[in-house]
Amino acid sequence: MGWISYAKPGSEFGPCLEDCTHVDCEATRQQTKEQCTGCGEAVGYDRPFFNVVIGDPPRSAVTHLRCWYGPKDKGSKQTT
Ligand SMILES: [Zn+2]
Ligand SMILES: [Zn+2]
Repeated sequence: MGWISYAKPGSEFGPCLEDCTHVDCEATRQQTKEQCTGCGEAVGYDRPFFNVVIGDPPRSAVTHLRCWYGPKDKGSKQTT
């Protein structure tokens, strides 16, 4: 499965640093706000992720690469 990663704002392939009206930049900003099904955080920039289909009825979603393959991240998220 091929993964995707959004370039950081201000980088060569990323959106503008500041708010702008470019269609491409706006699209990227919206897409980075999609929630990862693994950690519940936004996809964000510079974080490899890929599209998955989950649930019933099936819906397309996104998940970080490391959330999919290694849910036990170093940053322990244990709730006590
Ligand atoms: Zn822009
Ligand atoms: Zn995640």
